[in-house]
Amino acid sequence: MPDTPYKDRKHAQGVHVSKLSSPVTALKGVGEALALKLARLKIASIADLLFHLPLRYQDRTRITPIATLRSGHEAVVEGEVAAAEVVRGRRRSLLVRLRDGSGILSLRFFHFSPAQQQQFQPGVRVRAFGEARAGATGLEIYHPEYRLLGHNEPPVEDHLTPIYPTTEGLNQARLRALIDQAMEILESAPDALPDHIPEHLRQRFSLPPLLECLKTLHHPPPDSDAEALSQGLHPASRRLAMEELLAHQLSLREVRLRIQHDGAPALPSGRSLKTRFLAQLPFSLTTAQRRVLDEIGQDLARPAPMLRLVQGDVGSGKTVVAAMAALTAIAGDCQAALMAPTELLAEQHYRTFCSWFEPLDIDVAWLSGKLKGKARLDTKAAISDGRARMIIGTHAIFQDDVSFQRLGLAIIDEQHRFGVHQRLSLREKGEAGGLTPHQLVMTATPIPRTLAMSAYADLDVSVIDELPPGRTPVTTAVISDERRPEVIRRIRAACAEGRQAYWVCTLIEESEVLTCQAAEVTREDLAEALPELSIGLVHGRMKASEKAEAMDAFKSGELDLLVATTVIEVGVDVPNASLMIIENPERLGLSQLHQLRGRVGRGSTASFCVLLYHPPLSQTSRQRLAVMRETTDGFRIAERDLEIRGPGEVLGTRQTGLAQMKIADLERDADLLPRITPLADALLAWDANAGQPLIRRWLGEEAGRYGQV
Ligand code: ADP
Ligand code: MG
Repeated sequence: MPDTPYKDRKHAQGVHVSKLSSPVTALKGVGEALALKLARLKIASIADLLFHLPLRYQDRTRITPIATLRSGHEAVVEGEVAAAEVVRGRRRSLLVRLRDGSGILSLRFFHFSPAQQQQFQPGVRVRAFGEARAGATGLEIYHPEYRLLGHNEPPVEDHLTPIYPTTEGLNQARLRALIDQAMEILESAPDALPDHIPEHLRQRFSLPPLLECLKTLHHPPPDSDAEALSQGLHPASRRLAMEELLAHQLSLREVRLRIQHDGAPALPSGRSLKTRFLAQLPFSLTTAQRRVLDEIGQDLARPAPMLRLVQGDVGSGKTVVAAMAALTAIAGDCQAALMAPTELLAEQHYRTFCSWFEPLDIDVAWLSGKLKGKARLDTKAAISDGRARMIIGTHAIFQDDVSFQRLGLAIIDEQHRFGVHQRLSLREKGEAGGLTPHQLVMTATPIPRTLAMSAYADLDVSVIDELPPGRTPVTTAVISDERRPEVIRRIRAACAEGRQAYWVCTLIEESEVLTCQAAEVTREDLAEALPELSIGLVHGRMKASEKAEAMDAFKSGELDLLVATTVIEVGVDVPNASLMIIENPERLGLSQLHQLRGRVGRGSTASFCVLLYHPPLSQTSRQRLAVMRETTDGFRIAERDLEIRGPGEVLGTRQTGLAQMKIADLERDADLLPRITPLADALLAWDANAGQPLIRRWLGEEAGRYGQV
């Protein structure tokens, strides 16, 4: 069949499409109760059943001679009952000895009825399926599925048996029967599920047809590679994974297109304001900063919203780049907003921007969820009437009740906590002026390129690939906490020389309360061990003002040592701090350790980071901490982290949306990623509308409607 663009094909299919998109209740025997259970598996329509893929497979296509069975094998065996008796061990059980000429095996039942016991008369033929394991009588199968055989033997299964992910109250047989029904509907009307990847592209990218893949996955022929199928490495599952990744990328591109379809204020360069700003800075920009600013400047000059991600390692100087971009917006008679992921970081940015912008007569406003009452009303008024030109805060600044006079640029720092939906919601913020704000997203999470292309297909990427001059690399030591006294002496020596240190307490059992308590205890312990030092504390459960006070005291040098939780992970900037102790670093991801370590090595003195682990360390932890010792290059660390922990963790996927994939697994399918962009390009070149049905299929109607947001 020649490929026809999607729009011309869909008329021919209308009738059947509606059948597959019917709710599951349209199937025989599915009522409300069952529909609710299916909903827990995210199955709403008949088509959803088709895409509910097996976790693994059982081979019931042949009968295995007992003699060839091994412990751990799942198999069908067939034989004659030699004996059956109730035995009393630790637990009473019914033991049925089964013989097939090659050997003998026991079926064991811990729960059985008298009728069941009666069935197993010597000489009766039985076919049983289950997992063989070594038991008291040799190989045994506990609670096998079984049937008694009469004269004519039923055929064995003609395909591998799929085992589906399921939910309480819905057994495999029931779920399997439903999926089989859905497959029958599909096979009677194959056009109902169009292959949205046209044949010429399937050929070019070696992808088998969709229908064939679904058949293989739900009913694999007996000679299929069950191992490859179970692991998602079979071409059939890879094709679906590829399609899903493609759909995700297409949806991100769609978001991008929609946003860029809106108008944005075309901003002139604002040169004179920026020159005044640069003149007051105590340093000059690095080449990388200047290059990235050029890229940003070109985007801002266009009447369509910028969507740009600036990636730069910890300490590469992203804040000053954000400030320059903000000045362009402000010079262009717009407001600029900067959102940070935590109060602490927002607060720091606020101080930095106040010191930078006040000499330029630019009003900087501060807004966080904790700002209440009159102060909040006043700030909101200043934002909506335009007195505030630069607005800094937490996500509170993009909430519904905040309206801007004319928001021209939204800057999001440390983006991995900001998702596509929020990005879309920003469109509304500019609406008062009839325009969508430009968006600048900044991250220190160095994302390996292929992942970046998939996770951020909606953003252009700039990289600050150079650190400001004069930084001395941080030396890292991995030390057992048995040597804590030695580490404490090291702090004493450093502080005696006028340097400052951080002591970081890591998360305990995902509990903020416990973690903060541990930090308090640590502060007391250290105060006892180091009475001559003044020691401060910051953690997530302190009031914003208390945190700010402690940070200020540390920044001004009043405090020698700051005990902190990982709240200081992002953004905190105290150049005189040159020693950091991280307790239990094995609890953190490498990227997080890298972020933390980036708090030192900001000045000109040699800096040290001590990873104070609690022995014994697992093999993986040992490897990971070794990576930290070997390199300070964020990209290298991210790549190693990716190898060791997988992309979900590295990206913080819950925020990127990539975690919600049904079939694709970023780790297992990483090698597919480089093919996704060319496939997406080719598909859209063939038919600019070809993305929509794929997006709807994989991300749901809601995502299909991004366009109408
Ligand atoms: P990050 O990229 O981690 O957000 P920051 O913006 O906090 O880094 O910058 C880290 C430190 O480097 C700050 O003290 C900042 O003032 C300083 N800095 C930024 N750019 C330069 C530069 N070009 N030369 C010297 N110091 C710089
Ligand atoms: Mg920063």
